[in-house]
Amino acid sequence: MASTARRTRKESSRSRMPVALRAGHDHDHCREDALGDAEALCAERGARLTSTRRRVLEIIWQSHAPIGAYDILDALKREGLTAQPPTVYRALDFLLAQGLAHRITSLNAYIGCTAPGRSHGAQMLICERCGTVAELEDGRIGDTVSSAAKAVGFKITNQALEVVGVCRDCAEASPTKR
Ligand SMILES: [Zn+2]
Ligand SMILES: [Zn+2]
Ligand SMILES: [Zn+2]
Repeated sequence: MASTARRTRKESSRSRMPVALRAGHDHDHCREDALGDAEALCAERGARLTSTRRRVLEIIWQSHAPIGAYDILDALKREGLTAQPPTVYRALDFLLAQGLAHRITSLNAYIGCTAPGRSHGAQMLICERCGTVAELEDGRIGDTVSSAAKAVGFKITNQALEVVGVCRDCAEASPTKR
């Protein structure tokens, strides 16, 4: 729980560069923070982060690239767990409901939320080369969409924006390739 507060302070003093796009960052740290945040949030809400749910979240956090439900299932099976697809889907439903993960609709895959516990529209930058997904947290984007939808009498129940392109690392690695 202490690590959550520490991270929040540290993050706010840093640039707004999403962690997924910070070259050479310590990803073990991302994963540990995410699991620590998940435990703290679930405890606070009285939600049960069972060992399966926790393990699924950990698998999702193996990288910043989204992972499909069947790849999660395979990972569980490799660990000798006799998991079935409904087990994985139930765990994913829980993680989505708690805001600990996001579903990338266009890829039918899941990523860990980098801002759990904070209300935000999910704005995803998806790199078409390395598969990294970086989550932006810009309230202005969500506000603009909300007011435009409201103007045409549309009530939003879920707002997610998926933007495909090339991340900075990939662009630097091969600038001319399109
Ligand atoms: Zn990371
Ligand atoms: Zn998020
Ligand atoms: Zn990339």
